[in-house]
Order: sequence, then structure tokens, then C-alpha cells
Amino acid sequence: MSVFDLQPGFPPHQVATPCQDDPELFFPAGSGYYVAPARAVALCGSCPVFFACREFGVVHADEGGVWGGLTQPQRRRARARRMGVAS
Ligand code: SF4
Repeated sequence: MSVFDLQPGFPPHQVATPCQDDPELFFPAGSGYYVAPARAVALCGSCPVFFACREFGVVHADEGGVWGGLTQPQRRRARARRMGVAS
């Protein structure tokens, strides 16, 4: 499931993002953990909605894949830190 599935209207239509060109690289179907995220993480770094996507991913995305340059385990740790839960 991609950022576009969970957040309708994101990103704005006029904004081109790297993951629109290759969604399977960022959001592999059926994956809980993404074993080779380096290229997706690097491409997120050039995305015009990087910060908004990262924030949304930390708060909402529990699926696999890379959101805003963070993998699923990284997002879970970030969420836990915000909640004051050691991880
Ligand atoms: S930050 Fe990465 S996952 Fe998020 S919209 Fe941009 S390219 Fe896609």
C-alpha cells in the first residue's frame, strides 16, 4: 500500500514524486519488511514532498515499504519515541 492509497489527494496533482515512476520499488506488494530500501531511500531525498510524506508515514503507515525515506522499522521506532516508549 502506498502513500497515495492511504492519503487521497496526496501529493497534489502537479507534484511529481520519484515513487510515482516506480511504485514497486517503494511499496512492494505484500512485504512486511523491505530488505533493500537503499535506492528508494536515496530517491526520497530528492522528493518535493519528502517532509510531508515522512510525517504522514510516521503517524499513519504501518505497512512495509519506504515512506519519506524511512523503512517500516524506522517509522515504528520514530512513532514509539514520540509516544515515549523506549525501543
Ligand atoms: S518521500 Fe518518497 S515515498 Fe514519499 S512521496 Fe516522495 S518519493 Fe514517494
